[in-house]
Amino acid sequence: MEPFDPITNARGVGPVLGRKLAEAGCRRIVDLLAHLPIRYEDRRTLGRLPGPGGDPPERAPGPLTVVVRLEKLRRVFGRRRFSRVEAVADDGENRVGVVWFNRPYLVNQLDEDASYLLHGVPRRRRADGAWQVANPTVERVAEEPDCGGGVRPVYGRMGDVPPSRVERLVHGAVSRLTETRGRDWIDEWLPDEERARHGLPSLSEALTAVHRPSAEASVEALNERRSPAHARLAYGEFLLQQLQLAAVRRRRSWHGKPHRYRTCDAAAKVAREVLPFRLTGAQERVLEEIETDLLGPLPMLRLVQGDVGCGKTVLAALACLIAARSGLQSALMAPTELLAEQHFASLRRLLGPHLDLALVTSGQRVASDGRGAVLERVGDGRIDLTVGTHALIQERTRFARLGLAVVDEQHRFGVLQRQSLARKGQRPDLLVMTATPIPRSLALTVYGDLDVSLVDEMPPGRGPVETRVLSENHRDEAVALVRERLRRGGRAYVVFPLIDPGEGSAAGLPSLEESGAWWAEALAAPHGVVHGRLGRKERDATMSRFSAGSIRVLLATTVIEVGVDVPQATAMVILGAERFGLAQLHQLRGRIGRGTDRTLGQSICTAISGRSSAEAERRLAVFEASNDGFRIAEEDLRQRGPGEVLGTRQAGLPQFRFGDLARDWKWLVEARADAARLLDRLAEPGNEPLRRQLERRIPALATPAQGAAGP
Ligand code: ADP
Ligand code: MG
Repeated sequence: MEPFDPITNARGVGPVLGRKLAEAGCRRIVDLLAHLPIRYEDRRTLGRLPGPGGDPPERAPGPLTVVVRLEKLRRVFGRRRFSRVEAVADDGENRVGVVWFNRPYLVNQLDEDASYLLHGVPRRRRADGAWQVANPTVERVAEEPDCGGGVRPVYGRMGDVPPSRVERLVHGAVSRLTETRGRDWIDEWLPDEERARHGLPSLSEALTAVHRPSAEASVEALNERRSPAHARLAYGEFLLQQLQLAAVRRRRSWHGKPHRYRTCDAAAKVAREVLPFRLTGAQERVLEEIETDLLGPLPMLRLVQGDVGCGKTVLAALACLIAARSGLQSALMAPTELLAEQHFASLRRLLGPHLDLALVTSGQRVASDGRGAVLERVGDGRIDLTVGTHALIQERTRFARLGLAVVDEQHRFGVLQRQSLARKGQRPDLLVMTATPIPRSLALTVYGDLDVSLVDEMPPGRGPVETRVLSENHRDEAVALVRERLRRGGRAYVVFPLIDPGEGSAAGLPSLEESGAWWAEALAAPHGVVHGRLGRKERDATMSRFSAGSIRVLLATTVIEVGVDVPQATAMVILGAERFGLAQLHQLRGRIGRGTDRTLGQSICTAISGRSSAEAERRLAVFEASNDGFRIAEEDLRQRGPGEVLGTRQAGLPQFRFGDLARDWKWLVEARADAARLLDRLAEPGNEPLRRQLERRIPALATPAQGAAGP
């Protein structure tokens, strides 16, 4: 038997089981071995069942391994065809009830006269306070075992194949492979040098250790997936992925861009010429990075990250101006109409005297707003800078010579949309801007093909926003804090998680409809209401009045999350804060404290939370303590995972089987560095196994010309 043999070569796998396994994605023996245990039980020391008096009375003693006899074994029928199996476990001293749910067959398999090694967690029953163990594992043992056995892996099911079967198959396969092929039963593909440098076990050692942990293994490390074996598997996976990204990058570098920039002026000089303010140090640095990319022979692929208001759009504007002066068109794509319009307005203010701009959104009607005419002028090259929504990537929009494409709020767009915009030109330069700080680990994987710039400095005069987390019965305190800002001439947002109380399953959350009036009265200032169910015209009209100051309080849902720019807004109340993710809270908070007018005082964000879980509390504590978008993003990633952090619309998020971006990111960083070095050495004889492994993973790699189109 070989590791890459079909699963049906494993002992005990016939056609029926083979089909079931295949349906669960398990076609080869290695697929079975890649199915790691979900947890490990420590059965090394034998314990005793808790006594009736309770020792200690309340605290559960945690997982126990005990030798017991089972008495009063019976099947009990509950409502609606559900049944459970009950028994009493007796360790010779104490007796404790045992119950199994959904495993009716146990009543026939277990034997009242035999001894069992029982492993489970005793808990007190709510009804009568008696100890009970639910769903323990039991294993028949000889009369008097003197030790409880080792560290026992527990598997999850594989599709239709139950855990007990999976366990037998995996163990059978590991035994068989070790017998027939020896200690190194699966071929190592990681170069010795990398393995030695990181002190990692070999692939055979790692797979053996996760499926058959030694008696000395740390159960804690295994359960947290931080054992050396887990590290080896995660690192190996990351290394292949990073090599893949590095290969894509390399391929890109074979194709230069057709257009050239004429920069007789340095970008910094252009900035001095058109901006009414001086760039911050961070802006200057990033502008230089952008300029270097533009002047280079390859298309730029750069991600600019920085908190809301740090001045990213200004940098994009300068890049567009440089393009226009070189006779190239540029496009800026924003995720919402409101944001596109805002960008258009501020870019026109800034660049109006220097170039021709147009706005293209799908809200415009072709006839009345003259969209047809606009598109024509874009198409024949008369417009230098086109600002718009995803309407920019629609069929009808054509450019004469697109040299630079800018995408704002990247996390709202998928990779595919990013590429669609780039396809509107011939390998244009691409600048991606995001205010959602992407944790370094995610940036390395999801955006591994992008260069990353960081604007980590705010323009002068912006004080940090003070944040307070309050419970619901302290909302008067929030009111007082906001009224103080309103008295100084500031404006306030009150953010509701719901429009009306009937939404979703969110019982008990504050809604605009129910408590909007209370807040309007408590804050005692002219107010308006904005939410997603209002028509665009009405929403925009209210927003403009808020921006102009005839409305001082805006009661809103999270529609204000992106982009809205009102420098006088210095207060925010977020209701039902326990329901929001960290990144979203931070994004909301970014709406205030954007102005430079010191007479308005320090901006205040109060997050009001209802009853919340421990996790929500932790989240809010981080929110209160930190204004650092990156710290927040890392924490968000840790708590919610990459899929949630990037949103479901994010296409192209890599799935890792062993590695976890939050837990193993140090390995990811190592893998990235190693991949850069290894890419040039794949042809060396010692790296043959690695190259084959990589090709197995990415067949396209064998033909490097493929996929060269697009960024
Ligand atoms: P972002 O796109 O990062 O949210 P913007 O580029 O829209 O930030 O800038 C936010 C506001 O700050 C704008 O009003 C802009 O004109 C202003 N601004 C940007 N850079 C500076 C600077 N260096 N000094 C003063 N004001 C600046
Ligand atoms: Mg912006």
